[in-house]
Amino acid sequence: MKQRKPIVIANWKLNGGLDLICVSVASFIGKHFDADIAICPPYIYMRDMMTFLQFSELHIGSQNVSRFESGAYTGETSAQMLREAGCSLCLVGHSERRAMFGETNEGCRIKVQTVINHGLLPVLCVGENQQEREANITESVLYQQLHEGLANIELHDKDLCIAYEPVWAIGTGLAATPQIAQQVHQFIRTQLVELFGTATANRLRILYGGSVNKMNTRELLSQPDVDGLLVGGASLDPGHFLTICRQASDLAVA
Ligand code: PEP
Repeated sequence: MKQRKPIVIANWKLNGGLDLICVSVASFIGKHFDADIAICPPYIYMRDMMTFLQFSELHIGSQNVSRFESGAYTGETSAQMLREAGCSLCLVGHSERRAMFGETNEGCRIKVQTVINHGLLPVLCVGENQQEREANITESVLYQQLHEGLANIELHDKDLCIAYEPVWAIGTGLAATPQIAQQVHQFIRTQLVELFGTATANRLRILYGGSVNKMNTRELLSQPDVDGLLVGGASLDPGHFLTICRQASDLAVA
């Protein structure tokens, strides 16, 4: 039995369309899960997804959010707008946004606070790249991402998730071993104790992401500090994603 309710999030990135939405949502209709399940489609499909959700327990998430509330910021989407669209969580600082769109720890910090202020769940993504792992500086990279990305964040008793996504594991088929995941998640929880105190750190969920599939789900989620999964490629196959969610739900109560 898991100490914290598992959470499984699908990150569709720049993939999918109406067909995938219909098939994915249909596979969840009428089913109960003892885990929180969310899909983050491209923004444009959120409203389409909403109309199908009445009969399922699925949540909608966004892959990004603006640090701004409103104004002359072409191409941005605010937390308030996402909330109005029915979104309940936002990924912040995914490694692809850090690498390709100049996302910084300070920018992530502003986004995390904005998301909290609007009553949504922020999922702050952190993780080292291959070079950093080989140089043995994983912990110092994560320390900086967490302490800068969460400095002076006011949680107001609200929820926050951290997604540990080693960059070398994303889309490569080389998932972290359950032992590596547990070791890093434990380190992240220690940082959350420093930032928010023991009681809060023990309630916050830490997700693992990077080449998750139905074959490695059970072992990863069996680790005491792995509270959820962020799933990229495997979430584009509705049957595969459903199997991952079912395993997470079963582990929650096993
Ligand atoms: C991701 O990019 O968030 C991710 C976890 O991708 P994948 O599962 O394809 O490695």
